[in-house]
Amino acid sequence: MSRFFSSRYDGLTPYEPGEQPQDQKYIKLNTNESPFPPSPKAVAAAREAAGRLQLYSDPDVRKLTRKLAEKFDVEPSNIIIGNGSDEILNFAFMAFCDEEVPAVFPDITYGFYPVFAEACGLQYVEMPLREDFSIDISDYFNAGGTVFIANPNAHTGVALSREQIEEIIRNNPDNVVVVDEAYVDFGAESCVDLINKYDNLLVIQTMSKSRSLAGARLGYGIANSQLITDMNTLRNSTNPYNINSMTMAAGEGVLEDEEYTAANCRAVMKNRDYTVNELKRLGFALTDSVGNFIFMKHPEIDGGYIYETMKSKGVLIRHFTKERICQYNRVTIGSRQQMERFIQTLEEIITAGGKK
Ligand code: PMP
Repeated sequence: MSRFFSSRYDGLTPYEPGEQPQDQKYIKLNTNESPFPPSPKAVAAAREAAGRLQLYSDPDVRKLTRKLAEKFDVEPSNIIIGNGSDEILNFAFMAFCDEEVPAVFPDITYGFYPVFAEACGLQYVEMPLREDFSIDISDYFNAGGTVFIANPNAHTGVALSREQIEEIIRNNPDNVVVVDEAYVDFGAESCVDLINKYDNLLVIQTMSKSRSLAGARLGYGIANSQLITDMNTLRNSTNPYNINSMTMAAGEGVLEDEEYTAANCRAVMKNRDYTVNELKRLGFALTDSVGNFIFMKHPEIDGGYIYETMKSKGVLIRHFTKERICQYNRVTIGSRQQMERFIQTLEEIITAGGKK
């Protein structure tokens, strides 16, 4: 840290993305990416856009916004596009929280929420999940701050129903409720259509998971146009060209290939079923995940040991050190072949008798 770094950031611990080691070739199941390449239509559109990179990108992201508006049956004024959904989340923390309005989210959820809060100098409340990692929705009624709920929840994959989400929104007339639907396409219910009913709802989605565009960095928020205007004020005060032309084109291209996305989601869900069944056979306890990942714990073998040993055998999964979940590992659902290798490797560890 230099002597010039503002004391405003004293104690700020940055978000730690999943590791990307280069020392060997890994089966990479640690960052919830898609195992499938982007749609050929996305690739062709991005390639074409590369030939026009001498020009600035459209700061209003009009074409992509129109396509998304059509898809979700909302107005373009209900949409903001971000450099990944992380950027939209950041805008939401900046726009809808302050000294008097803390952020409120579960104790086990996407690890970036507390980091955004701290970077913005905000207070935040971490609501403990129930013992089984489910959310007690009444914990969030009249939350006294801006609510952030990942649905399905990060790490656990456990989802609330649309009705339960609506209950939370209805019981927070004076708070914004942000529903982070990063993983919604793998089996949960979206609440996007509720934005016309509630002016306090912001839904955030990403093209990083079901649409195989993690490297392009493309996410979006859907809400009442006034919430969108607030966030656009911040976007235009920081980086009006936040979406580069190639990414924009890739986003337009992938939306023209919805069957490709749907087929990939079906494949991931099928591979998830296979993986869950195999893990149960091996004695693992699992949450009921509807994300493109599972969250697993062995009754006898230490979670950190499983992570380390899998890594030494070329399979990367995600381990968290937070006390409540340190016996768990989160595993992205990859291709069938990757999941077979994953199960095989895990079986070797169990057969060898791991650390208790
Ligand atoms: N929300 C959740 C719950 C996530 O797990 C992630 C991915 N790490 C994101 C948002 C951010 O995704 P992206 O910025 O790639 O859109």
